Amino acid sequence: MSAFEAVIGLEVHAQLLTRTKIFCSCAVTVGGEPNTRTCPVCLGLPGALPVLNAEVVRLAVRAGLGTGCTVQSISVFARKNYFYPDLPKGYQITQAELPVCLDGQIVLDDGKVARIQRIHLEEDAGKSIHGDSGTRVDLNRAGTPLVEIVGHPDLRTPDEAVSYLRELRGILVTLGVCDGNMEEGSLRCDANVSIRPIGQDAFGTRVEIKNMNSFRSVRDAIAHEIGRQADVIQDGQAIRQETRLWNADLARTESMRSKEEAADYRYFPDPDLLPLHIDAAWLALQRADLPELPAARKARYQGELGLDARAANWLCEEPPRADAFDRTIADAPELASAFAPFLMTQVQAQLQRNDRPWPEVDAAMPALLRICRKWRAGQLANKMLADLLQTAFADTAQPLPDALAHAESLAGAVVSDVAALEPVIDAVLAKFPGEVAKYRAGQKQLVGFFVGQAMRQLAGKADAQAIAALLADKLDA
Ligand code: ADP
Ligand code: MG
Ligand code: ZN
Repeated sequence: MSAFEAVIGLEVHAQLLTRTKIFCSCAVTVGGEPNTRTCPVCLGLPGALPVLNAEVVRLAVRAGLGTGCTVQSISVFARKNYFYPDLPKGYQITQAELPVCLDGQIVLDDGKVARIQRIHLEEDAGKSIHGDSGTRVDLNRAGTPLVEIVGHPDLRTPDEAVSYLRELRGILVTLGVCDGNMEEGSLRCDANVSIRPIGQDAFGTRVEIKNMNSFRSVRDAIAHEIGRQADVIQDGQAIRQETRLWNADLARTESMRSKEEAADYRYFPDPDLLPLHIDAAWLALQRADLPELPAARKARYQGELGLDARAANWLCEEPPRADAFDRTIADAPELASAFAPFLMTQVQAQLQRNDRPWPEVDAAMPALLRICRKWRAGQLANKMLADLLQTAFADTAQPLPDALAHAESLAGAVVSDVAALEPVIDAVLAKFPGEVAKYRAGQKQLVGFFVGQAMRQLAGKADAQAIAALLADKLDA
């Protein structure tokens, strides 16, 4: 198995966050009664003429600038001809030879650079809904604006593919180009996978995998496909160039169509649409209008705020989360390097345990920062913090910030004064004379044992540092 290396290139479709469709003024909406968001243009009625939506161009250009592409001064819309019931015109308008952006890159989380070939604009098709009484067609989605981002085959492992997709998603969401929702299909990924013997330069025959709607399924599908191809080759057979569908329930890919069945799309420039001209001055304005991108944000988190790479990556994966984090620590940058891992571990564990969605945390970050500060200052012991969070996150009767404030008021104060701690410590030392002797003989790590015993007596509500200091006084005296 290990004698092969995988070669992977992703084609990513992102639905643009516009109010209206790409060539008509119908609303872009999820759901809605079937065939109510339609007009002669997106229904493909004879004689209806497309008019390009300017906002679509602005968003495609932002996607290109955010991924280091060269935005083309001229690009051309083409017709991709094929027949399908959900494609009423008999062709899809897309960009073929001259796309709007070329030659970009994505930096993976390990620093490796994966190149982007091109970004082109196109319209989505409608939806065929297969039911018991037959198949029906809903054209609400027809004409929804998409960008397709085509990557070079620079990726070598399923993890690299996921890292590429995460990074790309972070850029698109940060720029307001796409909402990044893979489950709902506003971000879709097709993976091209081939394998080759290690040391060989030429690529093997590739298989395209579709139908993955989460990062998890992208990773699993690619890993599975690499294994399948290795088995085929080890059986002495050849890989067939084909399209396969990921079946997440059965955890396997299934053949959809082979290359022989692939259509000849007979692309030609759409005579109803002028070439798209992008003016250099306007482009400069777009460039000046870019916000801080995830890579710069990660660098700032690590460089200025002292976060580790894992926490910085984790925050930047969800731009709204990083936005909330930035707002919250604006007045307390010194707490940032404690607050980020606090969110990533303790808070996230509570969300999972109580099955609550992340956005609730964004709204509760000021309250969480207050709690984190108390904890760091020793005003909340570890056990108290865990109980507080558990109480607050299990409380669904009130908004999370209120639940946190309430749990905080119940937590009480940490015991740190000598008068209260001393008798407990004396009792512990009296109870374990053997350990005391060992400690004094040099086993200094036993201090943890004594702190733990004292903590237990105090139901976890004591200041561990104060206990340790008192212990040291007594044991080293
Ligand atoms: P097509 O024109 O058929 O779509 P492209 O050459 O444009 O083919 O490639 C489409 C996608 O397939 C790109 O993302 C590219 O990176 C990827 N790709 C091309 N060749 C291979 C290969 N041998 N193995 C894996 N991926 C590949
Ligand atoms: Mg392709
Ligand atoms: Zn329309």
